[in-house]
Amino acid sequence: MTRVVLALSPHLDDAVFSAGGGLAARAEAGWRVVVATLFTGGVDAPKGFALACQLDKGLGPEIDYMALRRGEDEAACAALGLHAVHLPLLEAPHRDYHSAAELFRAPHADDPAREALGPALAELIEAHGPDEVWAPRALGGHVDHVLVHRATRASASAARLCWWTDWPYADRPAPADPESPTVAALAWEDEALSAAARTRKADACAAYGSQLGFQFGGEAAMRARVRAMAAERYATARA
Ligand SMILES: [Zn+2]
Repeated sequence: MTRVVLALSPHLDDAVFSAGGGLAARAEAGWRVVVATLFTGGVDAPKGFALACQLDKGLGPEIDYMALRRGEDEAACAALGLHAVHLPLLEAPHRDYHSAAELFRAPHADDPAREALGPALAELIEAHGPDEVWAPRALGGHVDHVLVHRATRASASAARLCWWTDWPYADRPAPADPESPTVAALAWEDEALSAAARTRKADACAAYGSQLGFQFGGEAAMRARVRAMAAERYATARA
């Protein structure tokens, strides 16, 4: 029977940026790899901080920002042999997080994503029957990553859990979700990336054109950083 990986990506880019090499290796080995991105819903006429997040990427208010990014994700996943699934939950700027600083503080007590993620994950697990679930360790502490991390840990699944190292957040000095298991409780696995795998990963990452300036300072800088990446780092629970 075909084995299945279900990768739970908070945003349209996280799984490929953080785990593109490892996921592509699974797909190449014959696994079915589903990348389910959770926060991909769009709103009509975004305002305030949500609109600013689009404008600061050079995209005018008339552009359907989330539709553009869903298209980027389809292209990136296709380039690596992964199946893209998009859930319509709303990103933090559409859930009353009003500044960049607020995105990296604790989740709001009344954040509707707290309620929505559990059933959404249960449905994905039921639909895809994964042997492995891959999800962010939430390094960097972005509220959407933290919520997906916690919901994954709370989900009832017999699948093996594998935590990816959030990239590029992992390159910045910031803590993981404080509720994340301690490093001592984790076993670490490196997915070594060959030169060919790095090129393939960089090509897939390049599909997220709207994010490259903001995250890396442009495509060339992203490619240089992927070229320098000898391995992706994963954590699993210690047996
Ligand atoms: Zn993200």
